[in-house]
Amino acid sequence: METVRVQLNDVLRSAFEIFSQQLKVRGIRVIWEIREPLPRINADPSRLEQVFINLLLNARDAIESRWGDHPAGGADNEKAIRLLTDTENGWVVCRVCDTGTGIADNMVEKIFEPFFTTKEVGKGTGLGLSISYGIVKEYGGIIEAVPNAPRGTCFVLRFPCSDESV
Ligand code: ADP
Ligand code: MG
Repeated sequence: METVRVQLNDVLRSAFEIFSQQLKVRGIRVIWEIREPLPRINADPSRLEQVFINLLLNARDAIESRWGDHPAGGADNEKAIRLLTDTENGWVVCRVCDTGTGIADNMVEKIFEPFFTTKEVGKGTGLGLSISYGIVKEYGGIIEAVPNAPRGTCFVLRFPCSDESV
C-alpha cells in the first residue's frame, strides 16, 4: 500500500471542484468550516479523493431526491452541504453534512454493505460507501453516518495524524 503524507483539506477541495458547478446550478449552498493548518495523514490522495467524490455524490442525491412533491433538501435556500475539518483527540476529523433525506435508523447499518442501494435501477450501484469504507479503513481511519440537525446526514471520517504535533 503506497501512502504519502496528505493534506486532507487539499483532497477535499479537489473533490469538491468536480461538483462545484453542478451544485451551484442546483442551488445547493456549500459551507466550508476548514481548520488550517490541518495535520497531515498517511494516505493515497487519489484514493482518498474517491471517497469524497462518493460522499459528495450521495449528498447531492440525498438533497435532490424527493418525498412526494416535497424536495427532501427543503426550501431552495435550505439546500446545503457543509464541509468541516478539525482535530479531535489526536485524530484528523472530517464531516460531510447534507440537508437531504436522512437515513432511517434501520438502514444505517446496511449502507456500508456492498450493493446496498435505495436508488432507482440504473441510478446507484450501492458500491460507493462500501468502497469508501474499505479505503478509509486501509489508512487506519473510521467512517460513520450520523443524523444532521435539523435534517439530513453527516458522514464523519476520522484518521490518525501523521504529523508529530497536533
Ligand atoms: P449508491 O449511491 O449507489 O446507492 P452508496 O454505497 O453510495 O450507493 O450508498 C448506499 C445507500 O446509502 C444509498 O442508496 C442511500 O440509501 C444511502 N445513503 C448514502 N449516502 C446518503 C446520504 N448522504 N443521505 C441519505 N442516504 C444516503
Ligand atoms: Mg453513492
